[in-house]
Amino acid sequence: NFQVEDKRNRKGFFFVVSGPSGVGKNTLLNYALERVRGIYYLPSITTRPMRPGEAQGFPYFFISKAYFEAMIAQGAFLEWKQIHSGDYYGTHLPTIVYALENGYDIITDMDVLGCVEVMERFPENVVPIFIAPPSMEELRQRLAGREKDAGVIARRMERVDMEMGYVDRYRHVIVNDDLERAGKELVRILEQYSQSGTKK
Ligand code: 5GP
Repeated sequence: NFQVEDKRNRKGFFFVVSGPSGVGKNTLLNYALERVRGIYYLPSITTRPMRPGEAQGFPYFFISKAYFEAMIAQGAFLEWKQIHSGDYYGTHLPTIVYALENGYDIITDMDVLGCVEVMERFPENVVPIFIAPPSMEELRQRLAGREKDAGVIARRMERVDMEMGYVDRYRHVIVNDDLERAGKELVRILEQYSQSGTKK
């Protein structure tokens, strides 16, 4: 039973942000996290290699495949998926249960399939937010800007189509047409739930 107990007379919100690769999710998340107080970013755990500009714990905890598989066997994940080239991504169940039971608001990034599972397990807590591209053509151009291999781009675009098919399941949909505008919209949504104020 995944209903969480309410220890502070206040349930924690679990903001789950999804959106296709290249849509600018991390930039938007950073924008909002710099401006909203009292929401904790919960890094997922992954086996994919760290990219330039990333660090241990942001945006992920980077671990080995063997360690990840041992954690699966221990039941340490709320959910996990193999995405893109077979790398694992998962969210740590005990951390989430602890946060929500104690009234902390947390935010994480998850693919659409993971989000749907988590919505079913924590229906009272999850606030699903989808970041959509202004148009499919613009997204294709953004992907082509950071990836030259046409096959890779085609596979990513197929996945984008799959992900766009879930947009109706999300309570909030933000079109990332402009960082300031979309960022402010995300801030407003988060504050509407957390009522924790904006940093001065
Ligand atoms: P990237 O490697 O580009 O950072 O992320 C690839 C995909 O993995 C993104 O769609 C992201 O939302 C998804 N993702 C990140 N963490 C998790 C997780 O814990 N669970 C699931 N299901 N997807 C995740």
